[in-house]
Amino acid sequence: MARYAMVIDTKKCVGCTDCVVACKTENQTPDGFHRDWIVERTSGKFPDLSLEIRSERCNHCEHPPCVYACPTGASHVDKESNITLVHRNKCIGCKACIAGCPYDARYVHPEGWVDKCTFCNHRLKEGKLPACVSTCPTYCMNFGDLDKPMSKVSQLLKSRKWKVIEPAAGTKPQVYYLV
Ligand code: SF4
Ligand code: SF4
Ligand code: SF4
Ligand code: SF4
Repeated sequence: MARYAMVIDTKKCVGCTDCVVACKTENQTPDGFHRDWIVERTSGKFPDLSLEIRSERCNHCEHPPCVYACPTGASHVDKESNITLVHRNKCIGCKACIAGCPYDARYVHPEGWVDKCTFCNHRLKEGKLPACVSTCPTYCMNFGDLDKPMSKVSQLLKSRKWKVIEPAAGTKPQVYYLV
């Protein structure tokens, strides 16, 4: 059992998009679709403006509306890892999960099933980090098990200020952003 999470340092992200390219290559997402993307947000008032760049993907929510909405059980939470996944052979392409996700994290694959970030669970099983994490040139992406108090992700969440995207949605995201 594990409770995997990603902790991304927005102070170190330079928006290079290497994580997006790495995911596309690793997971062979079809043309025009992707499992992760870069968001740029400015805040403050001129001349006191600040820019935040962050890499987003499925948040592997602890309370996942996509799973609750799925009529076939295709969308599910893997008991071993707490990762939200889709059984391709059970998916009927009804898009209820897409409507339920507040993060626009899913797309319909041209072959008819719904796809999204898997936290690269196939790589985790081989003892490797997710492709995006292992590619990031600024080392701003961290990945690990929040059930282990000494893991780097646990330590970062204890020692730094962080946020999640749209906390008001009540989904309890497991992708955290250091701010
Ligand atoms: Fe940011 Fe790292 Fe992605 Fe580049 S690879 S955009 S630095 S998270
Ligand atoms: Fe589901 Fe969307 Fe949460 Fe991912 S981000 S677990 S697709 S609700
Ligand atoms: Fe479930 Fe597939 Fe429908 Fe999504 S599109 S709700 S995964 S059956
Ligand atoms: Fe893509 Fe894997 Fe990163 Fe998810 S964890 S965005 S599937 S490379």
